[in-house]
Order: sequence, then structure tokens, then C-alpha cells
Amino acid sequence: MSQVRVRFAPSPTGFFHIGSARTALFNWLYARHTGGVFVLRIEDTDQARNSEEFLNVIYDSLNWLGMTWDEGPKVGGAYGPYRQSERAPIYKEYLQKLLDAGRAYEKDGAIWFKLLGERSEVFDDHRKKTVTKVANTPAVIDDQIRGRVERLEDEDFVIFRSDGNPVFHFVNVVDDIAMKITHVIRGEDHLSNTSKHVELFKAFGVQPPVFAHIPLILKQNGPGKMSKRDQGALIEEYQKKGYLPEALVNFLALLGWNPGGDREKMPIEEIIRLFDLPAVNQSNARFDDKKLAHMNMVYLLEQPADRFVALARAQLERAQATAALAADPAYLREVVLLSQPKIKSLEELAAYTAYFFTEDFVVDVKVRDKVMAKGDPKARLSELAETLATADFSSDTTIEDAIKALATRTALGFGDYQSVGRLAVSGTNVGPSLTGMFRVLGRERVLARIAKFQATL
Ligand code: GLU
Repeated sequence: MSQVRVRFAPSPTGFFHIGSARTALFNWLYARHTGGVFVLRIEDTDQARNSEEFLNVIYDSLNWLGMTWDEGPKVGGAYGPYRQSERAPIYKEYLQKLLDAGRAYEKDGAIWFKLLGERSEVFDDHRKKTVTKVANTPAVIDDQIRGRVERLEDEDFVIFRSDGNPVFHFVNVVDDIAMKITHVIRGEDHLSNTSKHVELFKAFGVQPPVFAHIPLILKQNGPGKMSKRDQGALIEEYQKKGYLPEALVNFLALLGWNPGGDREKMPIEEIIRLFDLPAVNQSNARFDDKKLAHMNMVYLLEQPADRFVALARAQLERAQATAALAADPAYLREVVLLSQPKIKSLEELAAYTAYFFTEDFVVDVKVRDKVMAKGDPKARLSELAETLATADFSSDTTIEDAIKALATRTALGFGDYQSVGRLAVSGTNVGPSLTGMFRVLGRERVLARIAKFQATL
């Protein structure tokens, strides 16, 4: 078989959402799996609804997700231009072919595509008018995902509107021909258009490409397809929240594709190696934000230190965590790495680490009341301060050993010192390991915070 050429053909009429990203991904994966070419084509003929802003969001999102295109806007290629708004002469040329072959005609100012077959006038009850029906045979679509689908086109349809602009079906097919597309992988909502497309391919004397219509993504809760307006639908949101693009890609790949087994986290090379169209499910996939958050956490946990610190810094910048950003970079690095095993998303980081960067941190009153109601926390705090004053702060273990030795002397447990110690030093009951926190803050700061807290009791 000749080289696979697939295309992602978004219309920049809205922000880039999960469904579009998944369609782009399946095309990209198929191209990478087969050693083919991934084309980006912008379907922007609907002037009124398109915007440059949306277009830039598409470019940014694809780049962020690592789905680089081999041909398309910005990178060029042999079959450009890749924006339909710049291809008017090509559409004229193709229209002329249909006119010359007697397969297009003008009526009411528009240009119509003419089906072949006997014609008869029929009254359509539904539309309350007489229409011309064509005795046509159904178009057969051997869909790689849906299987064999037959659909009948029995009425001519408009290919150029009276305002002179070509219609989606026409430009879509012309470009698939002109760009030598071998596989059309797109959302199932386009399945109903495919018979029109097949008729056009035949009229141009071209073998239609292989079709693969991917199932819909359903809303997390309730019936129906996920829309741009649903919570969590826009790719940009994840970028802003500091999600890892590779986690999102992994999640999207599994929305409808089944790698076999119970596999979840998979490196991209593995996804590329295993991806194939027949393994895409026929049934719709349901969006699940918890699964996505979990996937992101799994990826966050295993980031190498340098990358994690860079990601964390970028996130703190987005969150405008000025105190953290003003801190000594080596100190910031330690704080961030200490938090890495504990956070579920980078979005949490600014709040999670705030007390490392200010002496003015908030004390959670509920936590304080709870901790101070049990045992003799005042005494525990004095003992802890006394121990920490002379403990070896060179590692987490040396600090831990000192606190354990203290607990042995007082015949208590590590936990009796932990909650009150954490409260005094961080104002909360959640955080990284206690001894790690002490070490990173340093003896002086820890003792000063304990003293300050004691003064409030
Ligand atoms: N511009 C169409 C869309 O955004 C693409 C259709 C196709 O992939 O053929 O839905």
C-alpha cells in the first residue's frame, strides 16, 4: 500500500475541546504507527464563524500535546495552502471538472451536485413540498470502526451557495483528493455526511479513502455527547491547571481505543506501536475527570527532579505565587521535590507549599481545635522544641531518630509529636513528611515557629 496520509481538519469556530483533541490524536497516532504523514488542514470557509484566536488555540494545543504536523499551516508542504480560505482557485478548478462532466448545474443562484439515475417528482410530507428524487443505489462505506455502512443519497445537493462560497461537503472532498488523503479518521457525527462524500469522490473518478468514524465522547454525568460548554471540555483548561500533556494524551488515547488487557499508563512509544483502527471501540466513551486526574498524578509522581521543578516553577508563575518565586532557587527546589510525592496536581502546589515561604501563614482553626483537644499537646510541643534544639538536622532520618528517642523516653508515640509539631510549624494537618518539612525549613525557623505558636496558647 502507498504511504498513509491522514489529516486533522478542524474548523476554528470555537475553543479546542477534548473531542477534537482525540480526533487529532487518533489521526496522529495512525500516521506515526504506519510511518505515514499527518496533515493539518484548517476548514475555515465559514468566514462568519471563524476566528484567528481559535486558530491559534488549535496550533498551541496541538503543539502542547506533542502532536506535531508534517504538512499544514506554518510548516508548509507539497499540497498547500492548507487553509481552505486560501484555496478558492482550487475549488473553482474542481467545480469546472464537474460542470464539464455534466455533474453540476445552477439553480436558484446556487450550484448543485447532480446524482446519476432516473428522476421523479415526489411530494415530501415532512417538508411539505415537491422534491426531485433520484433512483440511486446506496453508497457503501466500509468503515474501519463501524463496519459496513450503507446510506442512500437520492437528492441532488448544493455545493456552492448563492453567495459564491463552497459548501463543506465539496471542499472537504476536493481537499482530500488534492491532498492525496488515504484515510479519513473523524468523529461519528460525520458518518451521515459520508454518503455525499462518496458520491463526490465517484463523480471525480477517484477511489474514496478508507473511512474510520470514531465514537462520541459522552458527558461525565447524564446523557448525551460532551459539548464545548461542559466542565472540563477545553484543552486550554488543563494547560492552565498545569496538567502534564503526556498524561492527557495517554488519557485521550484510552477514550475509545482499547490496547488490550487492563493497560492504563503507557509511554507514547508503546501507544504508537499498538494503536490501530480496528481496535477502536464502536461504543461511545464516557469522559471521567477522576480518571484523568489520577493519570496526571501517576505521571507527576515519576517526573525526574529537574523536569518536575521546571513544571512546578511554571505553575507557581501562573498562580502568581510571588513569595515562592522570590525565594532562593535551591530552597524552592527542595520544597517542590518534598511535595512531589504528595500532590495530585500541580494546581495544588501554590497553596500546598505556601507556609514554606512566609511566617504569616494561616492556622487552620478547625485543625488547631482538634489537635489541641487531645492529650497534653502543650507539653509535647515543649519536649519537641527541646529535642529539635539539639537534634542533628542533616537528614530526615537523623531528625526522625531524635523524635523517636524522645518518644521512647516519654513512653509515647511518634504520632503524639507529629500532629502538634505540624500544626505549630505549618498551621495545618496536611503536608509532606514531617521530618522532611523540618529539615527543609531548618532548625531556626522551626524553633521560631514553635515558640510563636506557644505564645498564642
Ligand atoms: N471540519 C470538520 C469538523 O471540524 C472536519 C470534518 C472531517 O474531518 O472530515 O468537524
